[in-house]
Amino acid sequence: MSHKLETKAIRTQMERSQFSEHSTPLHLTSSFVFEDAEEMRAAFAEEKKRNIYSRFTNPNTSELVAKIADMEGAEDGVSFATGMGAVFGTFAALLNSGDHIVSARSVFGSTHSMLTKFLPKWNIETSYFDVASPQQAEDLIQPNTKIIYAETPTNPGVDVLDLRYLGDLAQKHNLILVIDNCFATPYLQQPIKFGADLVIHSATKLIDGQGRVLGGVTVGKKDLIREIYLFARNTGSALSPFNAWILSKSMETLPVRVDRHCQSALTLAEFLESHPKVNWVKYPFLKSHPEYELAKKQMSQGGSIIAFEVEGGLSAGRDFFDNIKMLSLSSNLGDSRTIVTHPASTTHSKLSLTDREAVGITDGMVRLSVGLEHPEDIQNDLAQALEKI
Ligand SMILES: *Cc1c(COP(=O)(O)O)cnc(C)c1O
Repeated sequence: MSHKLETKAIRTQMERSQFSEHSTPLHLTSSFVFEDAEEMRAAFAEEKKRNIYSRFTNPNTSELVAKIADMEGAEDGVSFATGMGAVFGTFAALLNSGDHIVSARSVFGSTHSMLTKFLPKWNIETSYFDVASPQQAEDLIQPNTKIIYAETPTNPGVDVLDLRYLGDLAQKHNLILVIDNCFATPYLQQPIKFGADLVIHSATKLIDGQGRVLGGVTVGKKDLIREIYLFARNTGSALSPFNAWILSKSMETLPVRVDRHCQSALTLAEFLESHPKVNWVKYPFLKSHPEYELAKKQMSQGGSIIAFEVEGGLSAGRDFFDNIKMLSLSSNLGDSRTIVTHPASTTHSKLSLTDREAVGITDGMVRLSVGLEHPEDIQNDLAQALEKI
């Protein structure tokens, strides 16, 4: 019997122990014990699924992975200490020196640094297509291309990319399509349905949802996950069982939290769009979003993140942030607390002005991660901060 997403988020659970706990217990142990030499040999030979050492697997990390894989419609998955651990582990496990990546130009700041600064050290180069014209991606494919990489919606521009198009393109050229699904969560969008081979999550964001712990997960095709698992197991980026326990508990409330995030975000996006001191607003479920129709096709709701530009450039942007009273000035997102971020001076400050402009990060751009406070209180704080600029 196949359950709905809300049910999977709660009922995908590890086997109960002899103590019959209702809520999943925390298994803080670095290693697991064997009865005899034969049992130990069989475990290491992987003849039976069994925990050996928590750098490999642990009941808490396995539960989190199973839950996200189930919701994403994936065959299997691996967990990592952070979202960036998942991005790096996925690239490093699947690519050889001399391989090539085709990536959307607009990606998370650290992912951008990884592609431009670190992967080239191992002779892995990346070509970029604009999020506004993903059909450019086909022209960038070379004989040594192995992976197509994208986020949708993108961080921080909240652009929406056509997953079906990218899925078909990857299949036509026999490439691996990797999608960072952080902004949408497994509840709003399942990229595998549209042809993605692997899906990455920074569990730090909406999956935790309360800004407590870091974590990352890659889910997808079994044979690819096997390679990524072996890389992760031997290179030491394991997710702590404690963090996995928190994250798996958080998943139980992900659908109700995300429903509220989305409801408030749409209201606030409409408010900002009508505000005279706001030049533009980007939110996937606003009719003015350039990919509104596409967003409606591949996402069930618009998500919790809004991008907008205040009138008056850098100095007005700075004034806006200094006028904020309740909302948090932070670089995190997907928290119960509403957060305002200035990408040009923080998360994307490592990019040159030209690179920033190419991905739509203007000096006056604000990223708003809508939290779970009452939407009127969020709106009042935004309104008074905008009034004063
Ligand atoms: C935060 C984020 C990451 C990185 O996750 P960490 O858990 O901070 O390492 C990757 N992709 C996107 C889209 C993010 O927002």
